[in-house]
Amino acid sequence: METISSIDPGKIYIENIRNFLKVSSHKALTFCEMAVTQNVFERRIGIVCPNDGRVIEEYENENQIPETITCHICELEDREPNTFKTSKVKTIVFYKLKT
Ligand SMILES: [Zn+2]
Repeated sequence: METISSIDPGKIYIENIRNFLKVSSHKALTFCEMAVTQNVFERRIGIVCPNDGRVIEEYENENQIPETITCHICELEDREPNTFKTSKVKTIVFYKLKT
């Protein structure tokens, strides 16, 4: 059974909330957005590296996302390409517990 303590408070995905509350994705999203309105959660947009699925960088809103992004993990491991157009890669919305 998934408990709230098994969730990383710095990276709360809608999927985590959905599993935890045993609700639909839509309800989980509503729950998260409500938590943002109530200052419990902060919303983040993560840029996902197409090579390794890692969140390269996180932003507070769409306007902060640069045109291109480099995955330094891929760069270190000489994986090519390691610089991507952010419009072409996957983004993921997650939440952080406000401290
Ligand atoms: Zn990478």
